[in-house]
Amino acid sequence: MSKIIATKAIRGAHKLVARAEKELAEALKKHGADKNVEFPNTGYYLPISHGILGMNINKTGQLTELLQEAQKLLHPVPDEKHWVPYLGHTLDAGMATLFADEIIESLKYLQDPLPYVVGENCPEEGNFWLGAADDIIMRKRGVEFVDGSAPGFAACVGVCPSTEIAVKIARELQEKNLYVFLAAGNPTGSASGGNGTRSMADQLREAGVQMGWETRLVPLGNDSTAAIHAVGFATRAALAFGGVKPGDYQRILKYNKNRIFAFVLAFGEVDDEKHAQAAGVINYGFPAISETDIGQILPTGVCTYEHVVSPVPADKMIAKAIEVRGLKLHIAKIPIPVSYGAAFEGERIRGEDTYVEMGGNKTPAFEFVTTKDANEVTDNKIEIIGPEITDIKEGTILPIAIVAEVAGRKMQADFEPILERRLHNFINEAQGVFHMGQREIIWIRISKEAQAKGFKLAHIGTIIHAQFHNEFGAIVDKVQVKIYTKEADVLKMREVARAVYNKRDERVGSMTDESTDTFYSCALCQSFAPTHICVVSPERTGLCGSYNWFTCKAAFEINPRGANQPVPKGDVIDALKGQWQGCNEFIYQSSRKAFASMSAYSIMNEPMTSCGCFECIAAVLPGANGVMTVSREFAGMTPSGMKFSTLAGTVGGGQQIPGFVGHGKRYIVSKKFILAEGGIKRLVWLPKILKEELKDLINKRAAEEGVPKLLDMIADETTATTEEEVIAHLQKTGHPALTMPSIIG
Ligand code: SF4
Ligand code: ZN
Repeated sequence: MSKIIATKAIRGAHKLVARAEKELAEALKKHGADKNVEFPNTGYYLPISHGILGMNINKTGQLTELLQEAQKLLHPVPDEKHWVPYLGHTLDAGMATLFADEIIESLKYLQDPLPYVVGENCPEEGNFWLGAADDIIMRKRGVEFVDGSAPGFAACVGVCPSTEIAVKIARELQEKNLYVFLAAGNPTGSASGGNGTRSMADQLREAGVQMGWETRLVPLGNDSTAAIHAVGFATRAALAFGGVKPGDYQRILKYNKNRIFAFVLAFGEVDDEKHAQAAGVINYGFPAISETDIGQILPTGVCTYEHVVSPVPADKMIAKAIEVRGLKLHIAKIPIPVSYGAAFEGERIRGEDTYVEMGGNKTPAFEFVTTKDANEVTDNKIEIIGPEITDIKEGTILPIAIVAEVAGRKMQADFEPILERRLHNFINEAQGVFHMGQREIIWIRISKEAQAKGFKLAHIGTIIHAQFHNEFGAIVDKVQVKIYTKEADVLKMREVARAVYNKRDERVGSMTDESTDTFYSCALCQSFAPTHICVVSPERTGLCGSYNWFTCKAAFEINPRGANQPVPKGDVIDALKGQWQGCNEFIYQSSRKAFASMSAYSIMNEPMTSCGCFECIAAVLPGANGVMTVSREFAGMTPSGMKFSTLAGTVGGGQQIPGFVGHGKRYIVSKKFILAEGGIKRLVWLPKILKEELKDLINKRAAEEGVPKLLDMIADETTATTEEEVIAHLQKTGHPALTMPSIIG
């Protein structure tokens, strides 16, 4: 709580209440106490006194009562004796200010000539200040606040450093669908501003920018008291759309805090009166961001987050305000040159229709979501580091790293994999863009047609920015995307991502399936494999490798009605196969009654279904009395007689196929890996690349099983590509599978 702000705000309130007193006395002398006083064409009387105090003022005489209410709220200007370290006195001063404003502004409507233009839009010449909105405007525009087409408003006070900056800020606010209320000019020595003041509205007028309710750039008045018309608008919105009764001030303030995303942007000098206005709107939960250093009021209390933040450079003020106000952006139409929607998710792009291809084992490629501090992320900043589509020829194969950096007050590292896993759907939904896989096994194709329409790699960033805001608005405030397309960069960044992938995988390390009575489901892949359901337990990740038990738990917390639901295990049916009553019931329902039961730990007996995203496919080699498993990176022939792609076609689509199962890489080193068939000792063949990747973990697991040399006993493509060669290798090395019970029972 800043003492300077409190001092200035309370001093400003004193000044404004004194001014109201003086102007009211003059008006009463001139017009008497029975003169009608009103804002034109409204059924809400003077909206602040009506809404907050339940007063129905329509005569000058009644303003005396409102003045007394304002005076009651004034505390002495703080000095060493009267200083209180909490907001109360400042908020009271703010409310007194709003009452004083309402008196001063209502008296303006008795002036001749009227200082305001009546109507919805500003005339092209002359006076452009619009003052209070009538009820027709309020109903028409207010409803946009309710249905979300306008998330809120920015009240801009003072004058921007330059006309160009004023225009830029106005445009940016318009793009965010916010209403912009312009009020309170700053005093100027020159005569360029009317009444010796100059405001942002004057700057927009000079630049020829069209103002009025139509363009959402609404000049209210050049007096600091004119800001009251924004607050009056907000108060009427609560009365009209929130069903709040006049006089129920708590609900009016709460409605505004929760429903109207408004904030104040103060440019240039902030005098005592403007401090007082800011204190007034803090009562409504509207924070103020100031360009000049006016101190700060940071602790959460009335506003959702901070109350006053300063100094903030003009070009950063909107971003800061959006962050501080907790404004959630919704981007209904993603600005890309191709169609976008779930209808295009399943679209395949053939090789000959492809303009550029990335990943798919042909080039290094990965995608990664990481959390950053709010000040390290510029929302909607999209960078292409390396060649863009416009720099390459048709048929090029590019390396790619898609790195989405997000910031959010509620963001946690636990949520990163959830956002990351959704990149697949989000990118795939663009027409002419094919996306497959996750982490470092992604495969992307962009069609010639999409390229011809102007689709660029940067649009992948545009999609991610929009969809993260749309789908994860509750946790994400800002999103920026970096896309690397030079191999050296991709390889370098991949190391960073890998370290994090590993850390995520290790997170569940010490947990066992027995230590919890709740597993989690994942139904994300039902969009293309309707009967598929992953049951994710601490010791078995989702088969895509991206969703472990913690991830699912976090996803459920973010969205309790989403794709990840808790699965109560219930009574044990078979501990070795991994079957539980509760799990089976869940599977029956969520597989649309396709499967009544499923074994979490068996490949032979009702194995888990496989969608298509599996990192690996395990297959029984009956002759070798064991199991081989092949990862997506390995394109060569396997001893099952099928390559990965053929196996994937056989196993995928949400079926239970005894003898085959899709799984995540890490499952190989889980104690629950095909437990029913004897565990890791059944493993007879792996591609070398996977052996390398999991070397340490396999050695550790094998030692626990009493076969420390297992890795060498397991064949790979250098020793065996057929089942016969596998058997020969097993015999040569004395592999334990040879002496185990028959795997096919
Ligand atoms: Fe979820 Fe399983 Fe699909 Fe991964 S593979 S996204 S865990 S359903
Ligand atoms: Zn899947």
